[in-house]
Amino acid sequence: QDDLFKNVISHAKEYGFIFPSSEIYDGLSAVYDYAQNGVELKKNIREYWWKAMVQMHENIVGIDAAIFMHPTTWKASGHVDAFSDPLIDNKDSKKRYRADVLIEDYAEKINIKAQKEIEKAKVRFGDAFNEAEFVSTNERVKGYLDQKNAILQRMARSLESDNLADVKALIEELGIACPESGSKNWTEVRQFNLMFATKLGASADTAMDLYLRPETAQGIFVNFLNVQKTGRMKIPFGIAQTGKAFRNEIVARQFIFRMREFEQMEMQFFVKPGEEMQWYEYWKQTRLAWHQSLGLGAENYRFHDHEKLAHYANAAADIEFNFPFGFKELEGIHSRTDFDLKAHEEYSGKKLQFFDNETNSSYVPYVVETSVGLDRMFLAVFSKALQEETLEDGSTRTVLRLPSVLAPTKAAVLPLVKKDGLPEIAREIIEDLKWDFNVAYDEKDAVGRRYRRQDALGTPFCITVDHQTLEDKTVTIRHRDSMEQQRVTISELRGIIYNEVSM
Ligand code: ATP
Repeated sequence: QDDLFKNVISHAKEYGFIFPSSEIYDGLSAVYDYAQNGVELKKNIREYWWKAMVQMHENIVGIDAAIFMHPTTWKASGHVDAFSDPLIDNKDSKKRYRADVLIEDYAEKINIKAQKEIEKAKVRFGDAFNEAEFVSTNERVKGYLDQKNAILQRMARSLESDNLADVKALIEELGIACPESGSKNWTEVRQFNLMFATKLGASADTAMDLYLRPETAQGIFVNFLNVQKTGRMKIPFGIAQTGKAFRNEIVARQFIFRMREFEQMEMQFFVKPGEEMQWYEYWKQTRLAWHQSLGLGAENYRFHDHEKLAHYANAAADIEFNFPFGFKELEGIHSRTDFDLKAHEEYSGKKLQFFDNETNSSYVPYVVETSVGLDRMFLAVFSKALQEETLEDGSTRTVLRLPSVLAPTKAAVLPLVKKDGLPEIAREIIEDLKWDFNVAYDEKDAVGRRYRRQDALGTPFCITVDHQTLEDKTVTIRHRDSMEQQRVTISELRGIIYNEVSM
């Protein structure tokens, strides 16, 4: 698993997807730059999301709110007081950790033991295996799962009641050691606010303390009435947004899984109070279906219903993805009640209510939100797509099986040789296709090596121009996944590519 993850990181760099930020100065921790191919993949994921959420829903519209917001926003939202993580230091190694993550990792190890027993039993009992029955009768497995649940429940209770001493006690009782040094010499647990602060304005006495937004959602809440009125929106309706968010994360060592500057794709759906649970279920299923539509394997997704709810939520679930380091949160679906709009009403003194023509009365809507990290989505897609294959002749190839709709480059056009007019025809094909698709030209190296390079970049098609093209205007088109080649006329290319890469 470690090797797989290392491979993902080095492939992302070697093929121009992701670079460490300011690398010539040795980088900046948990900050990354998207390179020439990465920026295309990222843009395509964003567009795929936008199309599914905004274009396909008559009652969802988009906005693009500023990153800077009035500082009172973050008082009202609860971020100034409650947007923090429990932090703990190891006294010997001087390393800093999230106390909840240390405990969750410990619980996950117990869970893995249970899963291993279950896997072994599946092999042993074959078709006769019934997981639910096995778990309820197998003492050992039940013991592991109970132990895991007890740990997580105690942690949730302690965090909820801000009993940080008990979080520390739990770490000590479990004998959790510093992953780096093995030392068990821990400091107290304390809360650490994740927002980045900055100042607006030049003069010292009039400058205003600001925060870089830690989530995009608040830009939507403060604009709720503006959008509702100018768009003549009727409840239920949604507002969608993609954009940067900033968090001073404590544990930031998982490549683009947890960054200090990242991008979110969020949608807040405003509903009638009392109907939120039905919409919560609807969006859980709809978002899962969206992820699965990419064809990366349904078994790589699972729901995780939260036991510990944030201060604003009455129900919450994650869609988890099977990352190279195991199942982790990819997207959150939260039923946020009327917490945010009510808080903004209180702090701003402005009404944020919907007037219902049918009942002739006003109310503060409830909100169901879907929130997915664009960078996490990138990591999910990229890590599952990257595969090493052994071919029939025993040779290996690296292929990035990106969903075609997301691929940075849709087709590469390759003249077989650099002479006899073949490059000119290749250029003509590009001139024609580039209006509709991202296409690339490559004439360097033998054609087999060029194919391999495009495989590693995730390009779904290679189009090769050869001497026969001069005679009958046909080319070969090679499919990335099957490596099959077809002879087609130049005029057919657009249709073939379009069928494969359109949303
Ligand atoms: P986590 O528990 O992993 O810290 P969270 O529950 O704080 O995440 P939310 O506040 O619900 O996350 O944010 C919604 C989504 O934004 C997450 O599902 C994730 O995809 C993304 N996200 C959150 N924090 C980061 C980060 N530091 N780097 C990259 N993506 C992030």
